[in-house]
Amino acid sequence: MVSLTEEIHGLMRVMWSGKWAVVTPHTVLSAIWTHIPSFRGYCQQDAQEFLCQLLDQLQNELLKCPSGLIIKINNPWRDTVLARDLLKSLFEGQLISTIVYSNCGHTSFVCESFWDLSLELAITTLQNTSSRRSLSNSSTLFDSLNKFTATEHIDDNIFECSRCQGQHQSIKKQLLIKDPPEVLRIHLKRFRFINNCWRKLTNQIEFPMELNMYRYCNHDNQSVGVVNGEEDTVYDLSSVIVHHGNYSNTGHYTAYCWNNDAGCWVHCNDAKLNRSSSEEVLKSQPYVLFYARRRGRSPVLNRLVNDGDESGPDTKHMRTENI
Ligand SMILES: [Zn+2]
Repeated sequence: MVSLTEEIHGLMRVMWSGKWAVVTPHTVLSAIWTHIPSFRGYCQQDAQEFLCQLLDQLQNELLKCPSGLIIKINNPWRDTVLARDLLKSLFEGQLISTIVYSNCGHTSFVCESFWDLSLELAITTLQNTSSRRSLSNSSTLFDSLNKFTATEHIDDNIFECSRCQGQHQSIKKQLLIKDPPEVLRIHLKRFRFINNCWRKLTNQIEFPMELNMYRYCNHDNQSVGVVNGEEDTVYDLSSVIVHHGNYSNTGHYTAYCWNNDAGCWVHCNDAKLNRSSSEEVLKSQPYVLFYARRRGRSPVLNRLVNDGDESGPDTKHMRTENI
């Protein structure tokens, strides 16, 4: 059985070869149906859920690579990566959770890896005259990040301190980024259960082309990991997934993708690709955002596919058209 990784790699090589105006990814779809059975068929699916399962599957397959297999990537900050660490080296970051116990003041740290940040929309619930709930209609990505990294007071449980073994009724907890990933994926939680139904929050979220994550990173405690400086945490927007529709189980997805070679934004809508402007991208209603760390401005994936065999593995499902 051909792995999903091989199919995706083949598709990338063909797409970036510059030889084909149209690529029909039948074999990738078939491989997805084989390897991710919950996405088999033509049901409406969630893009964020698909990305999680796709990356999980690819990572599991890469873990089967021989332990010493090395891939050349020629990035400014590293030349090679172990095949089994390829996706981790792109998408994985580390969060650090700081917990302060209220009574004794003990501070503990817990680190965990993440492949995306799932953020609440920072919207406020307002009461109008008919006492139906209405929501203020705009907020910024920074509001959501501030909320995600804000110190939380938790007092609805009993917490045992690892140092004094005391039972405490309240703690303060804060999440910060310890190691920023090369590609930061931000999922905005637009779907909310309201009146017994999953509804989409259609609020406008302002987001920047350039995102500096410095203030959301840990730089207080030298012993548990810090970023090198503000210039180390600058990201550039590379893609935006947009969900069109008002419900979670229906709708349509399109995406804006930055094309490094052409130096322009491209709006991808099924088979239609159109050049787009930064203004149009920033006006879109984002569902998932991808930011590439600036030190890796030439994305690793571009380098990988360009370094590969450009003839592609199998062209029988592809056709060319005059541009
Ligand atoms: Zn204690």
